[in-house]
Amino acid sequence: MADQVEKVIIIGSGPAGWTAAIYAARANLTPLVIEGAVTEKNRQMGTTPLGQLALTTEVENFPGFPSGDTRQYLKTSLPEELQPYWVSANKPQPTHGINGPELMELMRQQAKNFGTRVITDDVVKVDFKKKPFEMVTLGGQTLQALTVIIATGARANYLGLPSEDKFKNRGVSACAVCDGALPRFRNKPLVVIGGGDSAIEEASYLSKFATEVAMVVRRDVFRASKIMQDRAKSNPKIKVRWNSAVEEVLGNDKDGVTAVRIKDTKAGKTEDYVASGMFCAIGHTPNTHFLDGQLELNEKGYVKWTTPARTFTSIDGDFASGDVADDYYRQAITAAGTGCMAALDAERYLGHHGLI
Ligand code: NDP
Repeated sequence: MADQVEKVIIIGSGPAGWTAAIYAARANLTPLVIEGAVTEKNRQMGTTPLGQLALTTEVENFPGFPSGDTRQYLKTSLPEELQPYWVSANKPQPTHGINGPELMELMRQQAKNFGTRVITDDVVKVDFKKKPFEMVTLGGQTLQALTVIIATGARANYLGLPSEDKFKNRGVSACAVCDGALPRFRNKPLVVIGGGDSAIEEASYLSKFATEVAMVVRRDVFRASKIMQDRAKSNPKIKVRWNSAVEEVLGNDKDGVTAVRIKDTKAGKTEDYVASGMFCAIGHTPNTHFLDGQLELNEKGYVKWTTPARTFTSIDGDFASGDVADDYYRQAITAAGTGCMAALDAERYLGHHGLI
């Protein structure tokens, strides 16, 4: 049993989770954030603490960060003993503004400054039929709360090929920033799959290490924004393969990935492209597995907001914010915005029910 009933538990530690925490803490709700566990499984799935932004490079579109010296704060924002486990510990030095891991560290610090408590663990089971709501963590803790804010985000998709699975961690990845600088990827050709902003971001980052980056795009157009498209087109190391699909990842036990079989679907030709790595950037899946069907999801599997312009879910007292409930905007700033909304919704719910 839990020792105490929390007013607000926030599950997740991306921009939605920390913004919800900042607002809930400033409303004297002393929120508890379950930020995720530092495990190999989470590393592989891309569900480590601090969310997807911890896996990115520069953030150019988060209002308020055109430039500025945030370095001083960053020296103290994470507990020293945990720093080696965070991707951000190996982050590249920014050339301007702020990068994803830094933005998350500062949001975390900001939430803590107002009294947010943080548990570095995963929620693996929930019981939302009970009131107070009950949650069990991977570490075996049972927690209770009057309100819950789900802010667990979404994780990167893979193609689903058996050969891709076989070479995960040995050349197949969905995170260039986490893995791109490894020796196996240096001075060799690499493959990036996808035509969205993420794919171009990954390809641009990898082009610093690779001899060439082949972007495998399934249509004859990018989905990415204009500015990112221009970035890909002006990078001499990025070669786009339009109308193409990866059929198989080739390799062996000793070397890992050695080549990628790419099919030109228009010409009907197949090529074994010699490469030491393949990076998937083909969209995301919301992290809702631990909910075990207790909250209503939309047709794409994202938590359903049941009332327009509110963060309400199908269960009274449970709120959702960020990418776990948003398959459309999926930006750091929109996640932060709905995190704020969820905290205000939780506060109003508690007030309305005479619980604060
Ligand atoms: P997107 O959904 O925007 O793009 C996914 C890409 O992968 C598309 O090109 C899609 O092709 C392709 N794809 C999907 N499934 C497959 C498959 N099975 N095989 C091959 N290709 C596939 O996802 P992103 O992760 O790129 O971006 C998500 C959101 O985050 C967007 O809103 C984006 O703007 C934002 N973002 C912004 C960044 C920035 O501003 N710096 C950086 C990164 C992300 P198709 O087009 O044919 O569907």
